[in-house]
Amino acid sequence: MPALKPLEVGVMFWAGRPALETVREVKGLGVICGQLGVAGNTPLDLATAASWKAALEQEDFTLVTVFAAYNGEDYADAPTVQRTVGFIPPATRAERLKRTFELSDWGKALGVKSIACHIGFVPEDHTHPDYLAVREMVRLVCDYAAANGQTFALETGQEPAHVLLDFFKDVNRANLRINFDPANMILYGTGDPIEALQVLAPHVISVHAKDGKWPPKDVPGSLGTEYPLGQGDVGMERFVAKLKEIGYTNPMNIEREVPDHQQRLRDIAGGVELLHRLRA
Ligand code: MG
Repeated sequence: MPALKPLEVGVMFWAGRPALETVREVKGLGVICGQLGVAGNTPLDLATAASWKAALEQEDFTLVTVFAAYNGEDYADAPTVQRTVGFIPPATRAERLKRTFELSDWGKALGVKSIACHIGFVPEDHTHPDYLAVREMVRLVCDYAAANGQTFALETGQEPAHVLLDFFKDVNRANLRINFDPANMILYGTGDPIEALQVLAPHVISVHAKDGKWPPKDVPGSLGTEYPLGQGDVGMERFVAKLKEIGYTNPMNIEREVPDHQQRLRDIAGGVELLHRLRA
């Protein structure tokens, strides 16, 4: 694996197509590292793990994180996220816990040292049954990942930074970390991303470089809109400057969720260029 420079530019991309083809396409964007998202219906068998491991080695590509998404998740609006995402929905907790364990094992087979996911909206009330159940699930995932030599990172954005930090401390596991996504703070209207980054700084192991605009104030429950890097409200210049200031040196993984694949590739390529410029 090649040595990664401080603030190496990476890409958040998804499994589901042949591994070698996927890694080559991502490398074609001008990066040598990234994070791999795994949808809930993507097989996590030994054959898939072997083909990914071979593709990463052949292409000299470093995977810093494997990200879990789960069957049944829907990001349409805030109430839908609340109802469907992460560890919050009671009906899918057992199945998603099992799936996260499987992802940890699968990541280990690929040599990946960090797993991550959205756990959903954590309630602020520490006595709420959902709070207690999710805290227990996060502890179980941390312990499972620790046995696999991995950290477990929580994706930011669905709650204000101080709520996430309180929860983080309450979970109290040495291998718990944060995957910081500045755009999510804006899309969910949970606070200024640069201030949030300062609050969470000691625990951030990975970041998404994503951009977006605030939700409309007159539509309750609506989410903001994602934009290509540099065109939203994050302020990529101050984001990168803040990463440098807090001493963050791990990769900046460009995330762009847009249905059209070619547009997604174009937007990411533009993001790679922007981050290379800002990193210099
Ligand atoms: Mg993200």
